Amino acid sequence: MPRFLCVHCGRETLHLNVAHAANAAQVSRTTVYTWIRRKLVHAVILPSGRKFICANSLIRRTSFDPIVQDAEALARVVIDSDPLPTG
Ligand SMILES: [Zn+2]
Repeated sequence: MPRFLCVHCGRETLHLNVAHAANAAQVSRTTVYTWIRRKLVHAVILPSGRKFICANSLIRRTSFDPIVQDAEALARVVIDSDPLPTG
């Protein structure tokens, strides 16, 4: 789970790739791309074109189970439950 500086949060935060974010939020990858395009979540786009979503913004965007209240918990849930390829 990479950490990047989120300019919106003003600090380094956990970031999820699109597949992880979609899985964590229980939405399609298309929806995640829409959120990025509409700036509904904080996204970092690497020079390679790969996109990562700030976990803090994802938590605010979606209503997770009460156990998932912070980015670290979200990351654990994703890691535990997600066999999806990255990308
Ligand atoms: Zn952020």
